[in-house]
Amino acid sequence: MDSTTRPSAESLTETVWDSIIVGGGSAGLSAGIVLARAQFATLVVDGGAPRNGPADHMHGYLTRDGMAPKEFVATGQEEFTRYGGTLARGTVTDVRRAEDGMFELRLDYRSCLRARSILVATGLTDELPEVPGLAAGWASLVHHCPHCHGYEVRGSAIAVVGSEIAPHSAHLAALMRRYSPSVTFCVNGAKVDAAERQRLGAYGVRLIDAPVSRVVASDGDEAPVTIELADGTTVPCDAIFVGTRPEPHDALLTALGAERDPVSGLVPVDAAGATAVDGVWAAGNVVNPRAQVVSAAGAGSAAGIAMTGWLLDRELSAAVSRQGGNR
Ligand SMILES: Cc1cc2nc3c(=O)[nH]c(=O)nc-3n(C[C@H](O)[C@H](O)[C@H](O)COP(=O)(O)OP(=O)(O)OC[C@H]3O[C@@H](n4cnc5c(N)ncnc54)[C@H](O)[C@@H]3O)c2cc1C
Repeated sequence: MDSTTRPSAESLTETVWDSIIVGGGSAGLSAGIVLARAQFATLVVDGGAPRNGPADHMHGYLTRDGMAPKEFVATGQEEFTRYGGTLARGTVTDVRRAEDGMFELRLDYRSCLRARSILVATGLTDELPEVPGLAAGWASLVHHCPHCHGYEVRGSAIAVVGSEIAPHSAHLAALMRRYSPSVTFCVNGAKVDAAERQRLGAYGVRLIDAPVSRVVASDGDEAPVTIELADGTTVPCDAIFVGTRPEPHDALLTALGAERDPVSGLVPVDAAGATAVDGVWAAGNVVNPRAQVVSAAGAGSAAGIAMTGWLLDRELSAAVSRQGGNR
């Protein structure tokens, strides 16, 4: 976001926005383009930290394969503003519904923004197992998604680090065998029953049960990264895949009265991203941790279309009221 697109504080607070989109990643910007093209006054407020920001390249988005995440977002911002959308860098720290039905959003604990409708597209944080060294290698030597980065390390020595926080670790280990004949699964407290162990072993995955002590990167002639185990053995490898726990950034949704599903732990939305709270939509990883960039964009687009219909309905009712008032 360059200075030419930065709106003044006054213009942000004086405008009554048709829609404010919190989060300007794939989901938020895709919704924004739909709303801006329909000429609704649309503001995207973005903290500037998309989930895949640490990665150099993005994969699996048809026609954008290999694009840098930063370039993807910059292109989306340019397309959104081209249609008259407004971008603001910052964090929405609070939200409430005012007595007149408008939503009031606090930007960076200061400015108050007002909107008729809201889309929350704030993404999630990947919680890593508490293993020293894992976070330092995140998105370079340590990955979580085979569909995003598995092909890039195909045929190399791969280790999968499981943990109690990631029940899908065994599936991750099996999936990595699609990409390499050399896969070591450090179970590290993940629940893997005897039948699963048998299936993994038969499929060519080596299982190790000793707890993982730490992960050490190397820039020498040795393997790029080594897993050190509590029993003193080591697993040198080229790349690590790790099961993570998604932590959706859904505090704004719950502040507005949306409730998390007790089983999934996620705020439920319908197929177009509508929450149970009138005027509030959500899209992308904040309500669907499995969404890839392309599916987050699809969800954002669907939400943008639904919000357009919702806003239009109110415009029509207001037009009828005005006409009645003029008679
Ligand atoms: C390392 C890594 C690599 C990945 N690689 C790929 C890949 O190759 N291909 C692929 O399809 N997927 C990949 N993914 C998944 C991808 O990141 C997500 O699918 C995608 O980012 C989801 O888009 P989103 O719009 O829901 O959220 P995000 O892209 O995370 O965008 C959310 C935005 O909301 C902002 N925000 C959050 N809270 C607030 C707030 N309160 N106020 C204002 N702004 C806020 C954030 O700063 C952020 O910019 C990868 C993930 C990781 C972790």
